[in-house]
Amino acid sequence: MKIIELLNNEKTSISCELFPPKHGSELQNALGIVSEIARIKPAYISITYGAGGSEAGQTVKLAKAVQDNGIPALAHLTCVKSDENKILSILEELKKEKIKNILALRGDLIDGKLDGVFSHASSLVKFIKSHGDFCVGGAAYPEGHPESKGLDEDIENTKYKIDAGVDFLVTQIIFDNTVLYNYMFRLLSARIYVPVVPGIMPVTSAGQIIRICELSGAKLPPQFRAIVEKFADKPEALKQAGIAYATGQIIDLIANGFKNIHIYTMNRPEIIGDIMGNLSEIIK
Ligand code: FAD
Repeated sequence: MKIIELLNNEKTSISCELFPPKHGSELQNALGIVSEIARIKPAYISITYGAGGSEAGQTVKLAKAVQDNGIPALAHLTCVKSDENKILSILEELKKEKIKNILALRGDLIDGKLDGVFSHASSLVKFIKSHGDFCVGGAAYPEGHPESKGLDEDIENTKYKIDAGVDFLVTQIIFDNTVLYNYMFRLLSARIYVPVVPGIMPVTSAGQIIRICELSGAKLPPQFRAIVEKFADKPEALKQAGIAYATGQIIDLIANGFKNIHIYTMNRPEIIGDIMGNLSEIIK
């Protein structure tokens, strides 16, 4: 199934993200995680692509496992350190496994260098669209991409992806929904009308939150910072508070008209299970 069909229907849904193992030997464990998450029945599962194109084959293997469990897969694909032949061979593998959905990304620069044939995600989107009947998503940054001079420039650049054929956008992690609502107005002003899927991460450890903010440039709103500080030394309390905070964000997003929310689950099925449990009367 193409994810755009799912995003365009009336049903409210939750999707989630998995990352592939670093070593082939850990694939069995990852496959176990796939079937545990599949039992919770998310709308779709996205599978990340290792930085710089590492573990590309693992992404396709996990995406296939996701679909074998009856859940649509969204395979991430980056173009740093890559060329047309490598991308074409991944597209062929995806076609062979009947995976119809790709999140097309540039990927983070490695030592400040691109080292690849496409300089931006928009060129990759165009290439994918001209080599198969894929539904293609792109990344969006409600707080601006770290390399952009500002949000306006970033939105202008996001427009290139839309013009190249992106069907929907998935956002970087947000901890403050008002940042997203503000961003939505800016997207509409730029005539960007594709569905936007907000990305929510239930934070379950103080170390994790610091790493994530460094990597993504996401800012912590004061009410969330207070939670992290209060429970930093009590891992179980922080986990419970992190799940409750993410649940609150999701309920607020649904109340404000978002129909699909993407959860960055960090390969922990119990976390998406807890959130879905909290939403049992809200998402049926
Ligand atoms: P682009 O859209 O190419 O944007 C990169 C920068 O270039 C931005 O500053 C943008 O404003 C600017 N820009 C874009 N087009 C133009 C243009 N035509 N002219 C001038 N400037 C332009 N990384 C991974 O390695 N693997 C993953 O699986 C992965 N999954 C992700 C999932 C999501 C939802 C998100 C939000 C990010 C993910 N990333 C992943 C990280 C992503 O690869 C990085 O954020 C990367 O730095 C930018 O990727 P992009 O696709 O947004 O690039």
